[in-house]
Amino acid sequence: MPAVTAARPRSIGRRRVRELATIRAMLRMYCADHHGRAPESCDECGPLLSYATRRLERCVFGDAKPTCANCRVHCYGAAMREQVRVVMRYAGPRMLLRHPVLGIAHLIHGRRPAPDLPKKAPAS
Ligand SMILES: [Zn+2]
Repeated sequence: MPAVTAARPRSIGRRRVRELATIRAMLRMYCADHHGRAPESCDECGPLLSYATRRLERCVFGDAKPTCANCRVHCYGAAMREQVRVVMRYAGPRMLLRHPVLGIAHLIHGRRPAPDLPKKAPAS
């Protein structure tokens, strides 16, 4: 398995860049505390990180994306959803202390309701 450090977003807007930074920070925290590693080199967290990155890049809402916890579309498969939920439950409350800017941005953004589904994804 190649390392996933090269998992860079293709062309996503600022909001998803921030969301990606948030999930990465959460995973780093979770992995360091539970596995004593970095997610990029962790058998458990590495696949989750690249999966989350891919889902974010392909989010049907584009940059109108709600926070995932707030979203009506469940784009994660059941196993990955459960994994990411465990990570967020652990890292979420710790974000405000360790990454206050990302943590607060996520909280504020999370208060907004999810938008309606886009009619049809533009063919681009
Ligand atoms: Zn890990």
